[in-house]
Amino acid sequence: MEAAGLLGLAAAALLAWGFLRVWDSRERTKSQEQAGVLGDGSRTLLVIAHPDDEAMFFAPTVLGLARLGHRLSLLCFSAGNFYNQGEIRKKELLQSCDVLGIPPSSIMIIDNRDFPDDPSVQWDTERVASILLQHIEMNSINLVVTFDEGGVSGHSNHIALYAAMRTLHSEGRLPKESHVLPPQPAALVPPPLCALLQIHENQLPVLPLKP
Ligand SMILES: [Zn+2]
Repeated sequence: MEAAGLLGLAAAALLAWGFLRVWDSRERTKSQEQAGVLGDGSRTLLVIAHPDDEAMFFAPTVLGLARLGHRLSLLCFSAGNFYNQGEIRKKELLQSCDVLGIPPSSIMIIDNRDFPDDPSVQWDTERVASILLQHIEMNSINLVVTFDEGGVSGHSNHIALYAAMRTLHSEGRLPKESHVLPPQPAALVPPPLCALLQIHENQLPVLPLKP
């Protein structure tokens, strides 16, 4: 009986925690909307390094932005071929995006030797930056969502994307009215998994690319 009571208490605590997290996430979204940054019809680009990044690190953000009426597209810099499973992982990415609400016509997967799925290879920052900028300009993107400076998980390919975006920003090469949004916390991910995501709260606010 005592064990059942404890279990009930734990379930109640988990429910309360979940409610608070959802409430917090709604408040955060509201303040972002009030800042005039995230709006209905925004053309938003999610930039990832490998198939599965979209689900592991960005699913709550993607679903949240879709609810706000953003038109989402995705640019993936590799096929995720580290274990020679690139073709399978490309298909999985399309299936995952189908669940997240990103249509195949809005997905581009770069599959070339310049950007191998390999943490020991440093992707050329300028090469990544020029492809990113070309994609942003061609598709009139006004919000970019990508990794933070720690690559969330520390993978060097993730960090290369942050470095390229940071370069475009600091050199003033991005179109006016563009913004960058680092990953947001997964509102309903249990606390032990949240810790694994290594998301830094001070990196959550929307960072305007142009003052
Ligand atoms: Zn990855």
